[in-house]
Amino acid sequence: MKAIRVNLKSDSPGITLEEIQRPVLEHADEVLVRVLAIGLDGTDREILQEHYGSPPIGEQSLTTGHESLGIVVEAGAETGFQAGDLVTCLVRRPCHEQDCVNCRNGHADFCESGNYTERGIKGAHGFLAEYYKEQARYVVLVPKTSLHYGMLAEPQSIVEKVWNQVQKIQQRLIWEPKTALILGSGPLGLLGAATCRVLGLDVYVWSMAAEDSKQGQLAKACGAVYQQAEGDGSSGSKASLSEYVKKIDRSFDLILECTGYSPLAFEAMSVLGAGGVLALLGVTPGARKMEISADTLNLSIVLENKCIIGSVNASRRDFETGVYRLGEIEARFPGFLQRVITERFQLEEVHGIDFSKIEVKAIVEVVPRQEWERLAQGSSEIQYSFSV
Ligand SMILES: [Zn+2]
Repeated sequence: MKAIRVNLKSDSPGITLEEIQRPVLEHADEVLVRVLAIGLDGTDREILQEHYGSPPIGEQSLTTGHESLGIVVEAGAETGFQAGDLVTCLVRRPCHEQDCVNCRNGHADFCESGNYTERGIKGAHGFLAEYYKEQARYVVLVPKTSLHYGMLAEPQSIVEKVWNQVQKIQQRLIWEPKTALILGSGPLGLLGAATCRVLGLDVYVWSMAAEDSKQGQLAKACGAVYQQAEGDGSSGSKASLSEYVKKIDRSFDLILECTGYSPLAFEAMSVLGAGGVLALLGVTPGARKMEISADTLNLSIVLENKCIIGSVNASRRDFETGVYRLGEIEARFPGFLQRVITERFQLEEVHGIDFSKIEVKAIVEVVPRQEWERLAQGSSEIQYSFSV
């Protein structure tokens, strides 16, 4: 079978389309999945262009891809899946440290040792291949109505994890959130905006993209108010976030920082409303330093009971909620999710992708889209369940 491999041990990451062994089921709890499509995100860009990521121990190269959608073609007797099921797959696998209580209790997304592996990113092969096999406990069923956007389940799981955390944290008070501010209008920001709209919040999206860009149009398509940032959006730039928030005279119960631009994260702390939560979801590599009004910031965080959390990765529950939420978003804003997918590539084109030209979200169609319906209906090509 074909797979996209990145050589991470050489000086420049060589991206190759390789012919490798198709995986074979060995245990009754495994499924073999035919990959339909893989979403690409900033992590994939870093792996494909900047040598981020690591191959499995003892290997030179890594099969990339972690945002998956595929069809089960073989299912072990103990999996609960059957051939023809549409599925996505969790990314992170637990570490092996005995005292990592979260990994030992099914919460690898809260791994404390940092020695977890992640398929397609860190120490484990990903899904950008024609087939993958996995233990059923990491595989999540996707309804066939989500066939054309189900690969968004992974980024949506990131949004769900945050929302789940926020709900737990906000039990500290009587919380009746009304407004959310989303910083950034990439796939995560747009999914966050649509989710907050579905949850009944008034949503504001603040981002660098022009108002008539695809991002701006999509933000408005899910009923959010869109505002283009001028300059970098932080204090000192032409129109800072603080000035904007002052101008619209709103107070935010929830802020999702999805840009990873760290000065904006600090700016967001100052505009967060009393009793609100600021969730930081993005990262910037580097060692940027900046001046902040430490006393003012500290004062407002303390006196207004503000909460700032970081969040990464997601659990099985978040994937399951994410799959459900995608259905809700589609019902409320028909076509929105497919519009988020702005670029489509074939396996043969991956090595030449110019990430700077991707408007919102790119996917790789491992199987041409015209074939998906037929495969999802369970064509004769699909083998039926067997026992191992
Ligand atoms: Zn761990």
